[in-house]
Amino acid sequence: MEECIFCKIAMGETSSEKVFESDDFIVIKDANPKVEGHLLVIPKKHYRDFLDMPPELYEKLLMTARETVDKIGVKEFNLIMNNGKFAGQVIDHAHLHILPRKEDDGFRI
Ligand code: AMP
Ligand code: ZN
Repeated sequence: MEECIFCKIAMGETSSEKVFESDDFIVIKDANPKVEGHLLVIPKKHYRDFLDMPPELYEKLLMTARETVDKIGVKEFNLIMNNGKFAGQVIDHAHLHILPRKEDDGFRI
C-alpha cells in the first residue's frame, strides 16, 4: 500500500497533526476540516473500509474515539464513517470522522 496516504501518515512518512496514538490507531486533524476540530481516527494497518476491518478492532476503534473526545473535552459531536464511493469515501483506508458540533456551525450531513 505504498500509495496510500493514510498508511504513509501512520508510518510517519508523511507529516500530519497527530492528536492521539495507540498501538492500533492514530488520530489526526483533518487537513480539510468540515468543522472546527475535525479529526480522523485511522487504523495503523491498511483496511479498505469498515467491512474490511477485523471485527476484533471495532471496540478498539470506538474506544479510541471515546478517549479522543474525552481528551479534547468535546461533548457534542458526530461520528461518521464513509464506506465506499457512493457513501462518500474518498480515501480507501478505513477511517472514522470525529466532527465536534456547535450551534449554527453550518454543517449538514
Ligand atoms: P472520506 O471522504 O471519508 O474518505 O474522508 C477523507 C478525509 O481525509 C477528508 O475529510 C480529507 O479532508 C482528509 N484528508 C485527506 N488527505 C489528508 C491528509 N494528508 N491529512 C489529513 N487529512 C486528510
Ligand atoms: Zn492505507
